[in-house]
Amino acid sequence: MSGAGAEEALRRSEHRYHNLFQAMAASFWELDFFPVGDMLRALRKQGVADYAGYFAQNPGFVREMMRATRVVDVNDQTVSLFGRGEKAELLGSVEPFWPEASSPVYAAAVIHAVTGKPNYATETRLRTIDGHEFDALFTACFPPETMNKGTLLIGVIDISARKQAEAMLAKVQAEFAHAARVSMLGELTASIAHEVNQPLAAIATNAAAGLRWLSREEPELDEARALLGRIKADAARAAQVIDRVRSMAGGRTPQQAPVQLNEVLEEALVFLRHEIEAHAVRLSLALDPAAPVVMGDRTQLQQVAVNLIVNAVQAMEQADPVARELTIRTRPTDAGVQVQVQDAGRGLADPARVFDSFFTTKTSGMGMGLTICRSILAAHGGTIGAANGPAGGAVFTFEVPSASPSGEPTHTKV
Ligand code: ADP
Repeated sequence: MSGAGAEEALRRSEHRYHNLFQAMAASFWELDFFPVGDMLRALRKQGVADYAGYFAQNPGFVREMMRATRVVDVNDQTVSLFGRGEKAELLGSVEPFWPEASSPVYAAAVIHAVTGKPNYATETRLRTIDGHEFDALFTACFPPETMNKGTLLIGVIDISARKQAEAMLAKVQAEFAHAARVSMLGELTASIAHEVNQPLAAIATNAAAGLRWLSREEPELDEARALLGRIKADAARAAQVIDRVRSMAGGRTPQQAPVQLNEVLEEALVFLRHEIEAHAVRLSLALDPAAPVVMGDRTQLQQVAVNLIVNAVQAMEQADPVARELTIRTRPTDAGVQVQVQDAGRGLADPARVFDSFFTTKTSGMGMGLTICRSILAAHGGTIGAANGPAGGAVFTFEVPSASPSGEPTHTKV
């Protein structure tokens, strides 16, 4: 190709690039990264080998790198997303566009660039020139040709609308969970009434006996004292039941605390004992004491257990009373604790669909119980699955990761 031809080709290619840069719906930035290269070389000379560790220890240095990174060019989309109409306002350092909390993302981008990765993409929060923060999808490309010149390309997409939709969805789901819980509590009224009635009846009987001991000619104070002790314990038991109902009915925010799943299952069973007995269901419990502690929300995990047990009991309504057996097992696994709830009911016609929202085969069912179980477990970094047992009946198996020694769940939070 002649010199003039090559020049023409180059000019055309640059023209094409410029058009693309301008016309894209995303915000594009061309940055001069050269001074950052000098700063990193100086660090290396001082003996710093682990950039990631150094950046984490020295957030001030990360801000310095931002100040040293200059904006060479931006497209129109960038002006309308970040600016006030004037491109020139944006052509300084990139530092004003990075909120303090997003500094680690900038640091990670630098590390990707210097370790020869082709690109880096993540969600973060960025800031407009007026100081308004928004959710952004941030992409940085490090093609060798531009890296050698010390420039790099950044793409930004405003995802605040998507984030708002996600938040809205989570809120609707939480409201649904609340509605489903309240409707389940409605179904369990008989159980709850029974649970509260038992200690109340015991209180009345013990109080009457206490009065009798006290009305004797020689009042039996020791007997009366013992009875008062029992009355106190029964009153506390009734209060606990009320508390449990209240925490299940209330739309409170989830807690994070160490939880022993064996205890959660036993508590759920206290709640459901009446329901289980009324349906003539035999309960077989195999709770392994070696099951490790998990990190999570006790009430939510109880809700999972209650949902699965209620479903199991309901599934056996038509079964021969002799066969109505509910088996609950726990066992430690490599990752945490596995819980199995197995019944001897009619089994699952379509195991793949039972977790879908609004999937129900019951005339008054809502079809949200298992959907909620799954989302509760997902929020705990766990899983749930459904299958038919070898001898018929359904088996629901869920797993929750154990708490690490630092008290955090071992999974990474998303
Ligand atoms: P609902 O109980 O309101 O129907 P769920 O989400 O709890 O909502 O359950 C969805 C569907 O899954 C039920 O309608 C039923 O068809 C099926 N299912 C759940 N648990 C069992 C079980 N133990 N045995 C058989 N079918 C079950």
